Amino acid sequence: MKFLLGSLLLGLASASVSHAPILTGASVETPLTTFNLTTGANCACRTLSRTFSGVIFPRDTNYSAETVEAYWDVRTDLSPACVFLPETANEVAHAIKVLSSCDAQFAVRGGGHMCYPGSNNINGGVLMGLSKLNSYKVHSETIVVGPGMTWYDVYSALDPYGRAAVGGRLKTIGVPGLSLIGGWHYFNNKWGFAMDNVLSYDVVLGNGTQITVNKTQHSDLFWALKGGANNFGIVTKFTLKTFDVPKISTTIQAYNESGIPDFLEAVCHAAKLDEQDPIAAGMVASISYNVTTKAASASLLGVQEGTESPPSQFANFSAIPSTMKIDKVQTMKTWAQALDSPKQMFRVMYSHKTIKPDPQVLYMFYKIWKEAVDEISDVQGLYPTFVTNVHAPGASRVGKTNGVGNVWGLEAEPLILWQFSTGWALEQDDLRVQAWSRQLTEKLHAISVEKGLASDFIYMGDAGEWQDPFLGFPAENVLRMREIRSSYDPNGTFSRLNWGGFKLGV
Ligand SMILES: Cc1cc2nc3c(=O)[nH]c(=O)nc-3n(C[C@H](O)[C@H](O)[C@H](O)COP(=O)(O)OP(=O)(O)OC[C@H]3O[C@@H](n4cnc5c(N)ncnc54)[C@H](O)[C@@H]3O)c2cc1C
Repeated sequence: MKFLLGSLLLGLASASVSHAPILTGASVETPLTTFNLTTGANCACRTLSRTFSGVIFPRDTNYSAETVEAYWDVRTDLSPACVFLPETANEVAHAIKVLSSCDAQFAVRGGGHMCYPGSNNINGGVLMGLSKLNSYKVHSETIVVGPGMTWYDVYSALDPYGRAAVGGRLKTIGVPGLSLIGGWHYFNNKWGFAMDNVLSYDVVLGNGTQITVNKTQHSDLFWALKGGANNFGIVTKFTLKTFDVPKISTTIQAYNESGIPDFLEAVCHAAKLDEQDPIAAGMVASISYNVTTKAASASLLGVQEGTESPPSQFANFSAIPSTMKIDKVQTMKTWAQALDSPKQMFRVMYSHKTIKPDPQVLYMFYKIWKEAVDEISDVQGLYPTFVTNVHAPGASRVGKTNGVGNVWGLEAEPLILWQFSTGWALEQDDLRVQAWSRQLTEKLHAISVEKGLASDFIYMGDAGEWQDPFLGFPAENVLRMREIRSSYDPNGTFSRLNWGGFKLGV
């Protein structure tokens, strides 16, 4: 790292002088960009580095590991003025007091998977990375985990006990982000979403106060944290319910383009399944399209509790002629271990809307999407995927009947969340791909509206930065969340200073 302040500061690159004063307004160069040091960031970085030895500055060798390599989407690689890695909840609380008193802009990173710039990283502000808060304790029916853990860490910790939690479907997704926005998992149909299975949160509020939030203490905030994202505080501990799932039956299937109509039919059928005594089962169902070879293919990653193999809940998929089928009985840990989604693969944008299951309309969407992909086929490194996520009625029935609820207020009805995940290589194509994704999503959603099939629900985990998930929640829930935010964060630490992510707005 190099400061652009003339020869005096150019010489200050050694660790022994790493806390030398940098002037507010100075231009600071990082491996990615140059920013002007603000008064708030200058104050917070200097104050934190006086108390903690591990504060990382742009000139430090581990700066890129925390600001680039820890992120999934290349677009989220930004350049904070400094990075603080707290090791305890007390350190988080101390840092929040410093950030607040310095009036410093900051971002918080859990697993680093949210894929849009500013949601979990920041240019010129303070980044708080939670990776060192990674301790856990397994109890007979719960696991207490720190926000530095990934879901693979959780499944690994539970593996010796034959237990499983409702979390993320891929390996490296972080516990905190996913739990705070909802949590689509294989077992939603039986046990609800990840958020429905958080029994207690330890939270650092905007003034640095630490509270425990559960059904009996701060029950209003307990409800608001179930889907309300990063609007209320920093969660330093989650107590998660666990379930007796020593083994799972898995199926990986792939189909060529001729199988796609039946594939979408099977996805819609799965969304409508609503049994009295359901078997926990769910999937990742996606279609990819290669713009060079013009070949489309669909794939299924199916998981079902228990040892019945092949898993009965995917019989409709298994009946489709496939190009690959691998059935296995294994544990959540071994399954998750194989499902890596490497960080820094590409720039990526998600966009999504929700529809009542209708295979013909979904097939039409797929065909329109594929034609639209061809229109941007010259974009370098284009990696387009059409994803369908299933919401079976049982998933929302859990929140409706557990005496707590969640902020979504969804009815127990079948829904499909259709999503474009679009990857590309170069920054120069950012605006083009983003506009393309948004326009196409809006066009298809208009068709759903016209056909009376549209739902307003938008899931933060599948949404693009241009979308406002709160518009899809019941208006009274949003009003209640704003009131709760006012009472727990009256100074707006998590709206004014920590502005990135899906914010409730004024
Ligand atoms: C490859 C991939 C696969 C995915 N698969 C799934 C899936 O199977 N199911 C699903 O539901 N979603 C899925 N998602 C979406 C995912 O759940 C969200 O991106 C989620 O935010 C990731 O959590 P994280 O901790 O990794 O994210 P981060 O990017 O670290 O955090 C997300 C947001 O939460 C805030 N935050 C982080 N930690 C805390 C904390 N302790 N307290 C308060 N705020 C905090 C951050 O500031 C940020 O705004 C997937 C995303 C990707 C990229």
